[in-house]
Amino acid sequence: MAEKLTIRDVDVGGKRVFVRVDFNVPIDEGTGEITDVSRIQAVLPTIEYLIGQGARIILASHLGRPQGKVEESMRLAVVSRRLSQILDKHVAATRDCTGAEVEEAVATLKNGDVLLLENLRFYPGEEKNDPTFAESLARLADIYVDDAFGTAHRSHASIVGVAKLLPAVAGLLLEKELRNLGGLLKNPAHPFAALLGGAKVSDKVAMVENIMGKVDCLLIGGGMAATFLQVLKYEVGLSLVEKDLLDTAARLIAQAKEKNIRLLLPVDVVVADEIKAGTKVDVVSVEDIPPDMRIADIGPQTIKIFEEELLRCKTIFWNGPMGVYEIPRFAEGTQAIVRLLAGSQAKTIIGGGSTAEAVAGMGLSEKMTFVSTGGGASLRFLSGETLPGVAVLLDKA
Ligand code: ADP
Ligand code: MG
Repeated sequence: MAEKLTIRDVDVGGKRVFVRVDFNVPIDEGTGEITDVSRIQAVLPTIEYLIGQGARIILASHLGRPQGKVEESMRLAVVSRRLSQILDKHVAATRDCTGAEVEEAVATLKNGDVLLLENLRFYPGEEKNDPTFAESLARLADIYVDDAFGTAHRSHASIVGVAKLLPAVAGLLLEKELRNLGGLLKNPAHPFAALLGGAKVSDKVAMVENIMGKVDCLLIGGGMAATFLQVLKYEVGLSLVEKDLLDTAARLIAQAKEKNIRLLLPVDVVVADEIKAGTKVDVVSVEDIPPDMRIADIGPQTIKIFEEELLRCKTIFWNGPMGVYEIPRFAEGTQAIVRLLAGSQAKTIIGGGSTAEAVAGMGLSEKMTFVSTGGGASLRFLSGETLPGVAVLLDKA
């Protein structure tokens, strides 16, 4: 796909710039306060650049799943307050995202001012990509900017509809996402390893198939390892096996062999009789998984083997925790990998919501080359799909 124009390529000074951001932040139900501001932090470079250029900035986002109607608990005012603090600058919030009140608020913006529109998903037209709704948003602005990579795989009004009606360019976060993830597909430094985990194979098959031609090694941990181990005739006890994906797993194993890709599966695992804290736990070879236990993490031998393999690599893409990292007893494999990647000289690219959370939880996000802000979107992108929100942006000449 051609490279996309960004906010640096267009004249934004004095213009009304509609910026689709992802302010879908976690909010504490009790206090109503934001518990993690990383999604706000991620778009600061774009907002600060636009302020510096004297643009009139109109931010738009969704928050939660209000199902096309107003939900008081999903208003974006809480974000505008926090953003005002972070920017040390007043960010006004409107109580709607279209209509007369909003048009007036936009008309009073001066160069460098920032306005945050109300939750886009209060309107059913957002998710339906309704043309009238898209038009009512487009009317507010001169230029469209997409900086919401996490939703770029969705054909919603604020992502595709508005972008078709205005000159549309990428924000700095979107640019960074496309550059880092695109680099994995285009010209990765070799050896290139993909380290995959998480709960299910089904989420990741398309991505794995697409990167099969590029990687030198494929390391598989997490819950998804069970399906592969089953194909290789190991007893996996009560571990989650995706029966309808056994053929796919077998095909991937055969493909790896054919393409000379080193495929590493766990040699030992932490097993538990139930996935919860304080139950019976054991560390066993994959040859000895008891029939009444299930895989909850990779074992110490596997950690060592994975570490040795990853230390040889120049590019590492990681998607999916190695175990049920939410429970400390099953977090060791994931934590060992986070530490290893944090200390690695390789290009380290992290994708996936849980994986990013595990890295952030250890305070090591900054030590990675790049942590993607898009879970589903990054998988779709690495599957080779053209994301509708990206396709709609103007190409570089
Ligand atoms: P990401 O969000 O990073 O893409 P996934 O959504 O694919 O990752 O998977 C994350 C989930 O996988 C976590 O909730 C984790 O507990 C779960 N998981 C990892 N290993 C196992 C396992 N062995 N058994 C069950 N669930 C697992
Ligand atoms: Mg996930």
